[in-house]
Amino acid sequence: MRGERAVSERMQSSVPSFFPSEDGNEPDRIRFVKLMEQIVNGVDQLKNPDGVNLKGEKERTDLFYKDLIQTSEIPSSSTPLEQVNEDLVKLLHNHPYHTKYFLTNILPMASIPGILGMLTAFLVNGNNLWDVYGPAGAEAEVRVISMMSKLIGYVPERSGGYTTWGGQGAVFSGLRMAIAKFAPDAPRLGVPSHFYTFCSEAAHYSLFKSMEATGLGSSRLVKVRTMPDSSMDVEDLRSKLEEVIANGGIPIYIVATTGTTDAMGIDDVEEISRVSSEIAAKHGLRRPHLHADSALGGFFAFFNEYDFAANPLAFKPEVCEALLGIQRKMNHLRLADSLCFDFQKLGQTPYLTSLFLIQDAADLNLVDLKEEETPYVGHRGYGQYHTGYTLECSRMASSISIYSALLAFGMEGYQRLLAQFVEVNLAFRAAIRDELPQAEIVNPDNPGIVTLFRIYPEGAHDFRDECSGQCTLADIERTNRFNERLFEVLGEQRDRIFFGDTKKHLVVPTKDGSSTALYATKIFVISPYTEIGHVPEIVRYLKENVELVYEKYSETPMISGRL
Ligand SMILES: *Cc1c(COP(=O)(O)O)cnc(C)c1O
Repeated sequence: MRGERAVSERMQSSVPSFFPSEDGNEPDRIRFVKLMEQIVNGVDQLKNPDGVNLKGEKERTDLFYKDLIQTSEIPSSSTPLEQVNEDLVKLLHNHPYHTKYFLTNILPMASIPGILGMLTAFLVNGNNLWDVYGPAGAEAEVRVISMMSKLIGYVPERSGGYTTWGGQGAVFSGLRMAIAKFAPDAPRLGVPSHFYTFCSEAAHYSLFKSMEATGLGSSRLVKVRTMPDSSMDVEDLRSKLEEVIANGGIPIYIVATTGTTDAMGIDDVEEISRVSSEIAAKHGLRRPHLHADSALGGFFAFFNEYDFAANPLAFKPEVCEALLGIQRKMNHLRLADSLCFDFQKLGQTPYLTSLFLIQDAADLNLVDLKEEETPYVGHRGYGQYHTGYTLECSRMASSISIYSALLAFGMEGYQRLLAQFVEVNLAFRAAIRDELPQAEIVNPDNPGIVTLFRIYPEGAHDFRDECSGQCTLADIERTNRFNERLFEVLGEQRDRIFFGDTKKHLVVPTKDGSSTALYATKIFVISPYTEIGHVPEIVRYLKENVELVYEKYSETPMISGRL
């Protein structure tokens, strides 16, 4: 007891007390754990399963951030950690939380094993740059790369990869690799300007960003048309590849989106690989580097080996059918030269835990640093793992969190969780069809975990007309504005039930010869707490708000008048 008091006095007063103990003594540990408990408990006190946000007040008006700028200052002396904790918990007041009503986007909860993995990494704070500094991270990284390689069918002895800054970082890494493959001198001399890249209209904007960042420029990014199921139109890819080559360009990089962020459209990696190989061979070119942007959808590879006939986890027949459909399309991921698993998406780990995987680790040499360029680390007689090829220098060992989640969930845990998401999503679709005749599901061919629906003002054309080019730009814009009203109505009440929305579901041709994007409301099943039993209540709430939009806005001339 006396010892504890003495320690606690030391803790209050001295700066070393801000650090975990050197020797593993019990009083310091108890104090550390208590501090953590204070935060966990503080969050628990704020939880409210009947709404989305944690409790607490926070008015985020325009003045909010201005006030913060004016009032924030570094305190002149130390603050006791208990008090700091109170301020930390206050940050969380009114924060969105993943209750059953959290249906907005691919913004998952961090699981306990995911958090514990982070904690493990933080306790030694190794630098994943080099195994001399971060051996735990190096070990975990090699392990998870091997695990995920085996899952998707890469040869683990040949494949490689690293954790990086998001799915976007993975798309960027793939592009870096592509440039180095086509111009081995590019790291030294700069990027040739006749290089072109390709992705679909439904792809994430990661490639757009990467084109800017590499200096190639987004005007050399060729957008390939999508099919109504949001997958890439491979025939359009073929003609655009031909066109670029005919004009003296070289196609170096294709991003196949395997699970689009909005609609869960899945590009056909096998077809894209075949067509791009064929065209490259025809023109005596190297095949473009093919990156499968599987940041989100890749996790359905957990079903690659699932025996749907025996169905050991007793999924319902419609769930099996949906999963089989996805799994068939995901089965060809291994044909991609590189891909990505955003563990902070469906891997149930905290930000940032994205894994970039590459089929042939030798490709990493193309962008590695030479010995003379790394005076501080690596290239020594000691240490065997040096990630000089990543864009980052210091790296967090986020692979430890991934490792923890993979061990904890196992194949079966992920299968159960993803199947639950799919099952709940199917229930949403059925309820929308029954209860919401005004709404049309606009990603009907992509089961997955997200449902997009669109409402149509009276007299408007329907989804099929929109897809087949029978609507004018004005028709579509009118319906888009009507949907935007719904976004606003739902968005204002997002602390009750939090839906997502998108202003770029599909790009469709118009009657006037232009093209435009369709708006849609999004139901993203992402909380482990959303169950089938909650679906009727949530759809009833949607129905009330959809009806409100019809009542309030149908009469507005701008909406219902002939434009
Ligand atoms: C989320 C997502 C990205 C971007 O991932 P970040 O981790 O946010 O950088 C890229 N591509 C796809 C398909 C995604 O779903």
